[in-house]
Amino acid sequence: MTPYREKDFIITAISPEGLVVFKAVGFAKPNAKLSGIVTLYAIVEAELDEKKTGLVLTNALAVSKNYKIMSDYQKLSVLNFIGESTLRLLHDESEIASSYPYIKKAVLGLETAFSPLTLAYITLAKILQAGGYGLDVNRCVYCQSTNDIVGINYVQGGFLCRKHIGHDFDVVLTPDKLNIIRYAFLVPLDKVDRIAFENDVLIDLMQALIIYYQDNASMTLKSAKLLIQSFTQQH
Ligand SMILES: [Zn+2]
Repeated sequence: MTPYREKDFIITAISPEGLVVFKAVGFAKPNAKLSGIVTLYAIVEAELDEKKTGLVLTNALAVSKNYKIMSDYQKLSVLNFIGESTLRLLHDESEIASSYPYIKKAVLGLETAFSPLTLAYITLAKILQAGGYGLDVNRCVYCQSTNDIVGINYVQGGFLCRKHIGHDFDVVLTPDKLNIIRYAFLVPLDKVDRIAFENDVLIDLMQALIIYYQDNASMTLKSAKLLIQSFTQQH
């Protein structure tokens, strides 16, 4: 959301068709009708009119109820994290279109009692995949063997078998953790909110995947620090 002229906003949104940019007229006025619905990281059904100067917002219905998230520090940190990691990595239409259903599912999932960190982890995996940085979680990156997988090398981009472990940046992981990584990259949309992982198991994997994202995208995610803090500090 970028202020435009005195009273308007230019809004950049993701949609099932890719990125959409539209003008919200009068949004900066205190009584603007739709400014409580079209907010940062909210999911809306928006009606847009095609004007000579571009698309203009004419109506909007709230799909997500972000007020349910705003009072929860962990959920809010996940929402910000998903928003930032989406907008900073994905730019072309097909990348955004393919990750949109997972992002929507995660934002709506945050309104429920389901594990927010699990939603964050799976969504990050799907965003990476859409951006062309998916990990190979089916076989050893060195020999393509599907047997005896014991670790991961993020720099090489995937799993390792027992025979090929020992290179720089190879990490040995428990079968549980390998399964979580595999699940996150392969899980279909309808099963995203079926299995919740324990935060203390997931937090290390989350940190590693954030480093992987940042290394590949050559950027620092500002929201990542808060995300990790919110799940590691006692309240
Ligand atoms: Zn191998």
